[in-house]
Amino acid sequence: MHNNINSMQFKEEPIIFEKGKKGRRGVSLPPLDIPEDAQNRLGIPSKLLREPIDGFPEVSEVEVIRHYTRLSQRNFGIDSNMYPLGSCTMKYNPKVNERISAFPGFSFIHPLQPEEQVQGALRLMFELERFLAEITGLHRVTLQPAAGAHGEYTGLRMIKEYFKTRNEVRTKILVPDTAHGTNPASASMCGFRVVEFKSGKDGTIKKDTVKSLMDETVAAIMLTNPNTLGLFETDIVEIAEIVHEKGGFVYCDGANLNALMGITRFGDLGIDVVHMNLHKTFSAPHGGGGPGSGPVAVCQRLADYLPIPVVERRGDFYYLNYNIPKTIGRVSSFYGNFLVCVKAYCYILTMGPDGLKRASINAVINANYLRKKIEKKYHLPYRKICMHECVFTDKNQRVFGANTLDIAKRLIDYGFHPPTIYFPLVVNGALMIEPTETEAKETLDEFMKAMMKIAEEAEKNPELLKNAPHNTPVRRVDEVKAARNPKLRWNPAGSNRRMSGI
Ligand SMILES: *Cc1c(COP(=O)(O)O)cnc(C)c1O
Repeated sequence: MHNNINSMQFKEEPIIFEKGKKGRRGVSLPPLDIPEDAQNRLGIPSKLLREPIDGFPEVSEVEVIRHYTRLSQRNFGIDSNMYPLGSCTMKYNPKVNERISAFPGFSFIHPLQPEEQVQGALRLMFELERFLAEITGLHRVTLQPAAGAHGEYTGLRMIKEYFKTRNEVRTKILVPDTAHGTNPASASMCGFRVVEFKSGKDGTIKKDTVKSLMDETVAAIMLTNPNTLGLFETDIVEIAEIVHEKGGFVYCDGANLNALMGITRFGDLGIDVVHMNLHKTFSAPHGGGGPGSGPVAVCQRLADYLPIPVVERRGDFYYLNYNIPKTIGRVSSFYGNFLVCVKAYCYILTMGPDGLKRASINAVINANYLRKKIEKKYHLPYRKICMHECVFTDKNQRVFGANTLDIAKRLIDYGFHPPTIYFPLVVNGALMIEPTETEAKETLDEFMKAMMKIAEEAEKNPELLKNAPHNTPVRRVDEVKAARNPKLRWNPAGSNRRMSGI
């Protein structure tokens, strides 16, 4: 099809150490007009002087630029095409928020600057906390946690401290089988015992199951709403009542807030603690391991346990309050990933309450639009209206010998990032699709067309899927080898020079 372009674009890129020539330079400096300090008369300690680096790349500026530009083009990102990775909310993040977070007044301040000099930053944190409290319907918020899982840990630590200060021994956390893997991991890290329970046949948690497990040894139930099947937990209010009756807390993993903003509030559903992922719902790019932020909102009962410091206001003056009576201490150095908070703050202000609500409504409409079209060819285990994402399986394609992984890899050939696969674990061969609200109908139609074409290929020519992707620089990788035996380090002495595990 596009062979010329492909062969040019996909020529294997050598690593930078393999490029250049001895003596080639990226910059040309004028001759020194002061004597060269060969004897180190400036007296810099010798351990701080840089030794020459053997085999260091000697390359021109244009070689550096082309090398890194080519590498960047091999990355799949939301700025190039649709990225329907379920549970991850890979939506487009407006560039204006990025620009504002780079303003020197935000990016050049120091965490140890006196409060008088950083009133704007403190006000931003104060107001962001109020916004997130309003969106979640809860009392107070900490902005410190650096990620969703970190927020889970923080929320559960507060719950643990709550019972400890009351001399109540509660050792268990109830976690449904649809939970994100970080949930039981966070509970274990906090020293709780995880009691896993099954969700009902329709994919949601049943109140009777919770009732049978709930007693005074349970500290909290940890659920996700909408859950990881993209379904709204319809029993949530009654479940919260059952848990509260026995003195426990309801923890909600709010990473899927993109389906609920402005429509319903966690606090109104009886939820006591929730973490949000600013890097999913609130305009911080993610997926590349960059900084995230997982603020935690809590009910009044837990407000005394918040990490320190929190931002407070006295008249017009914003200050950091370290005097929280039963605080769990710090969970991050300083105040969390502040610049991620700036992006979220700008996003919330530019969207406004109606805009946030519309975003969620459109996220749900987009997912259901895809669901109705894709279910014509793909097995949909839970046949009902979904929230912001929906989960299919490879059941119909497996009979021809093509599985979920093959479908996912083939999507790459059509220019789409694969959806989340083999998660949640309760669905055999899951394909979890989250289109988000930022995709236009035309893009959704293209995606749907690709899915239909792949279903047809699975029937007629499963081999095509088995060997996919076909037009990428790296074909199907041995994933175990890539994970277990990655070649990451440049080794000038040996032949082990490649960066990938293929
Ligand atoms: C993304 C996600 C998490 C974890 O968030 P991180 O920021 O990656 O730690 C937890 N639960 C759910 C449902 C998620 O989608």
